[in-house]
Amino acid sequence: MFENIIIDLTKKLLREKVIDLVIGYGSAQLPFRTKPIVINQEDQADALVWNPFCGHNLARYLKYYKNTQHKIALMVKGCDSRAVQVLLKEDQIKRERLYLIGLPCPGLVNREKLQKQFPQALPEDFQWKEAGWFFRGKQIDPGLLLEETCLRCRYPNPLIYDELIGEPQTMSPYQTYQKDYLCQIDALSPEERWDRWLQEMTKCIRCYACRNSCPLCYCQECFTDSTQPQWISPAPTPSDNFLFHLARTMHMAGRCVECGACERACPVSIPIAQLPLKVEAIIREQFQFEAGTDQESTAPLLTYRENDPGDFIK
Ligand code: SF4
Ligand code: SF4
Ligand code: SF4
Repeated sequence: MFENIIIDLTKKLLREKVIDLVIGYGSAQLPFRTKPIVINQEDQADALVWNPFCGHNLARYLKYYKNTQHKIALMVKGCDSRAVQVLLKEDQIKRERLYLIGLPCPGLVNREKLQKQFPQALPEDFQWKEAGWFFRGKQIDPGLLLEETCLRCRYPNPLIYDELIGEPQTMSPYQTYQKDYLCQIDALSPEERWDRWLQEMTKCIRCYACRNSCPLCYCQECFTDSTQPQWISPAPTPSDNFLFHLARTMHMAGRCVECGACERACPVSIPIAQLPLKVEAIIREQFQFEAGTDQESTAPLLTYRENDPGDFIK
């Protein structure tokens, strides 16, 4: 819908040498999918797309330009812009090297829900217009199809940008829908939660797609890849899978921007974002902190206070 504006802006920025390249979304070969693309020539810009299937958090790709001089334009939804703010705060990129193309986000379509609601759906059956989402011309409630992580979203509009494409969303999915899959987890007893996660950890093949799609997992060497010392066996046993996911969840505490990119990347459909999202929910409640929502405040786990009420600090 707003693709032409994005394409024209990209061409102008490249032509006037304001930027060296754009990291954006392009069509993928499979239906209802997009892929990250890098554009550095004006005549390539027509390949850019923007729709509710643009699920990658493109801030992930900034790490590959950390030690270059490129001036980079980046397409950012609300959650992506939060990731950029965390990266700025953690000194992973300089603001002056970024041109942020802000995308007010309608939420992402979950392909499994789409398939369930509308078996045999073809890409041309689904349309996203300013007035809403339509299937074969009939308006549908986005809540039926939204990713669970998007149902929780409080910041669909970019919090930081240089150019905003279209009008801001007036309501967040969180305000509209209130319920998501974390509510179901909260309703389980500790024993039921354990059984459920044991099942999920048995499915995990430890491919690391979740880690590799996360904009904030940028360590040059992940603890999982270390051989001296070896913290974790490469074999995907349930116990080592637990160790990997719980350690990653702790590394994300107060940093996760709730984008759900990790979960969308999982080839065996484990709702893996529930772990960092649950921790963020606790941090929001206990510390009134949300990662990447401003450039000033520091995450609780990165904060040191001599008068901390906890005994562990003394
Ligand atoms: S979490 Fe929010 S900003 Fe991010 S994709 Fe979902 S609705 Fe859009
Ligand atoms: S993407 Fe899925 S299968 Fe792969 S390591 Fe993560 S949770 Fe396990
Ligand atoms: S842990 Fe998952 S939800 Fe959180 S920032 Fe990383 S990819 Fe996004």
